[in-house]
Amino acid sequence: MFKTILPGQTIGVIGGGQLGQMMTLAAKSIGFRVIVLDPTPNSPCGQVADEQIVAAYNDLAAVKILAEKSDVITYEFENIDANALSWLTKHAYVPQGTEILRVTQNRIYEKATIQKAGVPVVPYEVILNQTELEHGLENLGYPAVLKTATGGYDGKGQLVIKTEHDRIFAASLLSTGPCVLEKWISFTKEISVIVTKNPDGETAVFPVAENIHCNNILHQTIVPARIDKETEERAMVAAKKIADFLHLIGTLAVEMFVTEDGEIYINELAPRPHNSGHYSIEACMTSQFEQHIRAICNLPLGSTALLKPAVMVNILGEHLDPLLENLHHFKHWKIHLYGKNEAKPGRKMGHLTRLCNDTDEALQELEENNIW
Ligand code: ADP
Ligand code: MG
Repeated sequence: MFKTILPGQTIGVIGGGQLGQMMTLAAKSIGFRVIVLDPTPNSPCGQVADEQIVAAYNDLAAVKILAEKSDVITYEFENIDANALSWLTKHAYVPQGTEILRVTQNRIYEKATIQKAGVPVVPYEVILNQTELEHGLENLGYPAVLKTATGGYDGKGQLVIKTEHDRIFAASLLSTGPCVLEKWISFTKEISVIVTKNPDGETAVFPVAENIHCNNILHQTIVPARIDKETEERAMVAAKKIADFLHLIGTLAVEMFVTEDGEIYINELAPRPHNSGHYSIEACMTSQFEQHIRAICNLPLGSTALLKPAVMVNILGEHLDPLLENLHHFKHWKIHLYGKNEAKPGRKMGHLTRLCNDTDEALQELEENNIW
């Protein structure tokens, strides 16, 4: 049922943002052809792919053209239209399958699956209405965070409930559909582990990344994560356990919280390359993007060895102009800009990565620039 896809053949990518772009750059450097489906003309991925089909993700005629022109289909985001997906699984080669999308599209299924895999999640309850919310808050206590089961990203679709008074703000989230209520975890670190598997049964795990978020959006990634070896090992084992349970093909990013007493809780999963793995482009022998391409094509996976410690910082819309005016301060940083045409606040426009001997020094260097 699985195939090996060789250089010269064509990879179809659903979604033309920066993740698709960096996947494509990796695929092109191994000699694949890439065709992308994205509704916005000249998308970041379209700029570097052989071809872009400009159409909505739920445009079945366009999905069919993508399938006809591609030897294998992958995606850069998990919220693939259900009809398009069911058509694709019958008529195209989608080695990653659909089960992992079904699970990661919905926080309720996602949490249940992680628990079934035998890995702890943040204490939570499924919440369908205001009465259930009140019971949930009694059980979990304050603060807690209410998240829509579907559609959330970069902190969207979430409400932190600090006191009884905040409950009234929950109505608008609850009106959009099922939610989960999570206990607020006063973590000491947020970390992530990216794991890749190919149909031949190879598994590769990237070094554990430490992530710092600002306003719920990833701000910095620091590798190696500043955690002890034993915690690092447990984080990698947890990620592999979930990957095995899901019969992963391709890439899975696992976001985790580490508490003061060393507990690890899984926060959420992403069935694709992840912002917290961008450091791997320069810092690892094989990047998360190349690894993803190797995995879906059933090529041997590459080494994930860390060549040097690294710091990655995101460039959001509001950071772009100050960065461009201060580029002379960033001689030691690799610049990645995704070619998006409008720099809206909070929009991910690019990132910088610095390889270093001492991550604290690199972080200090960022502090000294008044860009972030
Ligand atoms: P998104 O899909 O927006 O990334 P997340 O569930 O990862 O949603 O939440 C975004 C960020 O909000 C997390 O990275 C973390 O910093 C914070 N957060 C989310 N849930 C919790 C929680 N239960 N306890 C503490 N912080 C949380
Ligand atoms: Mg997240």
